[in-house]
Amino acid sequence: MTAHHCSQCGSRMVLATIGERQREQCPACGFIAWRNPAPVAMAVIEHERKLVLIRRGETPLAGYWAPPAGYVETGESVPAAVIREAREECGLDIVLDELSGVYSQADVEVLIIAYRAHSIGGQLIAGDDASEVGLFACGQLPAQPVPADGTATDCWLHEVILDVTAPWRRIDILRATN
Ligand SMILES: [Zn+2]
Repeated sequence: MTAHHCSQCGSRMVLATIGERQREQCPACGFIAWRNPAPVAMAVIEHERKLVLIRRGETPLAGYWAPPAGYVETGESVPAAVIREAREECGLDIVLDELSGVYSQADVEVLIIAYRAHSIGGQLIAGDDASEVGLFACGQLPAQPVPADGTATDCWLHEVILDVTAPWRRIDILRATN
């Protein structure tokens, strides 16, 4: 681990065992650098009876299709972040329907909170980190290979995308509702 400097007093941090874990601590003032996964809000949006996916422009999984997602910011709730990310990444105004899932993994530095939602306005257009936006009918989602040389985060995100979009892969739902 690279040595950091204390955000409180500027001294060089050292590794210490605190609460049965190795953590960086300042020997001068005692400040402990707690490390936590950053929360990411994800919107699994139904628009015109289809699923909205964006083609990711940046890592992890650049080039893959995924629901709009982004970091929750201080000053907003998770649901507000989901709504904001939808607006920024695909141009749609949405209403949240229900929590889809919460995803985390020990070796990944983010955690994802995904909501199912539907559009109530706006105009479908790719923005921000998205290079493209697409609408996919139930049972017609793009096949995406497991990232062969991917990082832990790549592989984990690939699994999260499969899980949150699972209801849209089931042909029987399409038949049942048509
Ligand atoms: Zn210090």
